[in-house]
Amino acid sequence: MDDNTDTNAASGEAFLKGKDLIRNEQLLEDEITALTDYLFDTSQLGIYTPQIYEQLGNSLSLLTQIATCQWGCRNSGHDIEAILRRFCNATLAALRLMNAGLYEEALGQTRNTAEIVNLLELFCLNKSNLEEWKKLSSKEQWKRFGPVKVRLAIENCGEQPVVTENLYSKLCEIGIHISLPSIYQSYEINRALIVGGHFSIQGLIIVLNTLAQIVAPCLVFAGVLVEASKENMRMLTEASQSLLNVKRDIDLTNYESFLTEQKVQRIHEAVNEKLLKSWPKVQELGDEAYNELIQEGKLDTDKLSEQEIRQAVIERAGNKLLENTRRDLQNKDLEWAENASKFAFERKVASLMHMIEKANEQIQNTQNSDHESVDKLYQPHETN
Ligand SMILES: [Zn+2]
Repeated sequence: MDDNTDTNAASGEAFLKGKDLIRNEQLLEDEITALTDYLFDTSQLGIYTPQIYEQLGNSLSLLTQIATCQWGCRNSGHDIEAILRRFCNATLAALRLMNAGLYEEALGQTRNTAEIVNLLELFCLNKSNLEEWKKLSSKEQWKRFGPVKVRLAIENCGEQPVVTENLYSKLCEIGIHISLPSIYQSYEINRALIVGGHFSIQGLIIVLNTLAQIVAPCLVFAGVLVEASKENMRMLTEASQSLLNVKRDIDLTNYESFLTEQKVQRIHEAVNEKLLKSWPKVQELGDEAYNELIQEGKLDTDKLSEQEIRQAVIERAGNKLLENTRRDLQNKDLEWAENASKFAFERKVASLMHMIEKANEQIQNTQNSDHESVDKLYQPHETN
């Protein structure tokens, strides 16, 4: 296998250590966060990605309001409120890690939100589940309401869990567990593996879309479970719908096929194109490489044969070409993100939209603010 793993911690000759390593890494993560903010603020992340970000913020605002009794205190032990606190915090942690360029770790936090949203869905389907859950010890809670049990219970009610088995196992595989695919997971075009935070437009899009898919239904479940007023329920379903409107059909379950073409093929083509079209530039790289090697004392022209010198220069120039191409392609990724957002299809979104429409209908039909059991709000929707 090629030596394809890189790090931010190398500083000249000495490899960083101690608190210097930690601070250097966090400084770099802050820079990636600043870059991400800048790209969001200057509309350089396509059309939908910034909208998802904005709508996630709106959604978190509403969930935080519920979690902190801003719409009135139910005086019922703050059970749902406290669960929503954990949901909000996990979402915020995922966003923080995403902005720092730690995308797999962001997906690990996203897995926490996934477990919570399915649990809330089950509580919505039958509130007796919530009462039962509250009476159990944490050990029994895990036995009776572990992620798999919750998913099966939802399916037994004839519903599709927000987080399906497929999505959940991907979140585990990429975000949590160590597996052969996950240790080589890379969102980069050239499959580079980076130790430490590293900006990747692909990683950003996958995290945001996966979060959107989980947060949107959570708004509706939260409203139902705290028996939000008609007006607040409308606000929640509208926010949920807004999030689903901008969400693209890219998540952990399907991104591989979506990204594969973007990766190795593109870098090969781009390198070939450069070799053919801009030969003078390639020659320039050769000169640069030669001068660098001389300066670094790595090219002893007295001792090495002409063949060995040529080989060393070609190797260094080749790496430079690859590095330049990779940089160019990452810039082009910004265009790619825009196109991907524009043209990505919306099958999964449609199935979740169905749920929201039903909830809206229900609100319009309900004369009082009492919420009936959610199976009326939450009709089965097509699976794709
Ligand atoms: Zn309260």
